[in-house]
Amino acid sequence: AKRNGKNNFQFYCDSMHSKIQGNVEMESLLRKAITNKEFILLYQPQINANSKTIRGVEALIRWNNKELGMISPAEFIPLAEESGLIVPIGEWVLKEACQQIKAWHQQGLPKFPVSVNLSIRQFYQHDLVPTIQQILEEADVDPKYLELEITESMAMDADSASTILNELKKLGVCIAIDDFGTGYSSLSYLKKFPIDHLKIDQSFVKDISVDVDDRDIISTIIMLAHNLDIVTIAEGVETEEHITFLKKHGCDVLQGYHFSKPLPPKDFEKWYSNWNFK
Ligand code: C2E
Ligand code: CA
Ligand code: CA
Ligand code: CA
Repeated sequence: AKRNGKNNFQFYCDSMHSKIQGNVEMESLLRKAITNKEFILLYQPQINANSKTIRGVEALIRWNNKELGMISPAEFIPLAEESGLIVPIGEWVLKEACQQIKAWHQQGLPKFPVSVNLSIRQFYQHDLVPTIQQILEEADVDPKYLELEITESMAMDADSASTILNELKKLGVCIAIDDFGTGYSSLSYLKKFPIDHLKIDQSFVKDISVDVDDRDIISTIIMLAHNLDIVTIAEGVETEEHITFLKKHGCDVLQGYHFSKPLPPKDFEKWYSNWNFK
């Protein structure tokens, strides 16, 4: 048993070591990824629950690296946050999304907002607001077509968060709270902050058919949001059953694989031209 323990320890050390080494390597690749143009944005539609028209799209990043292949944000965003690289990466995302908005407007697509995920490091950058303003001006995009998704944990410093959110609102962009219900929640800030949309986390939606608690949580979140004049968006909508439940409880907007996976711009345009509000 002792020997096993020792072996386990050995194994643990090795895997720790290779993990750290892997991170160091990944970080140096990540550092070069912007200049090498290795990032792309995919776009996932959000559908108005009643009219089935499009309400907007969420931009989701992917990293396509020669050595590592296609890497999901779950794998590299934490490392980008730790290393601070999330700040230039996040700026690239904002620029790319705004250029895409402009391109779609020029192509004559109906206008809808594009949502971008902000990380907490970005949110608390002192020059966040002027940076976003400049990006919008350079792309010549009306701020109302940009939506910023932040998570509950970013609002933990309620006073600073409130100041930043009010400045962003003054700029004219929309604000959504992402992954609602999973983090540190203070219901009072929902009332204090200028929030347009509240996104119900997909972990609740996933278990609609099996978990009565999750059903109660969803209907309660929708009621709460509506009392505060906040529009609700459900994530991870995959089945007819999800749609039926969410519509019955008045959820406003639906997003998930049932409608479409996140798509490259050209594929999204094709999807949209075939989308006949079915
Ligand atoms: P998120 O913001 O909660 O995004 C939703 C995630 O759910 C996306 O994963 C999306 O592809 C996935 N999804 C959408 N519909 C369904 C569905 O019906 N079923 C299931 N099972 N999943 C669905 P993705 O693209 O891998 O992104 C993961 C997370 O990475 C995002 O979660 C977000 O927190 C972060 N992220 C993505 N892009 C960015 C970015 O540009 N900047 C920052 N800071 N974070 C990003
Ligand atoms: Ca999001
Ligand atoms: Ca989310
Ligand atoms: Ca999430």
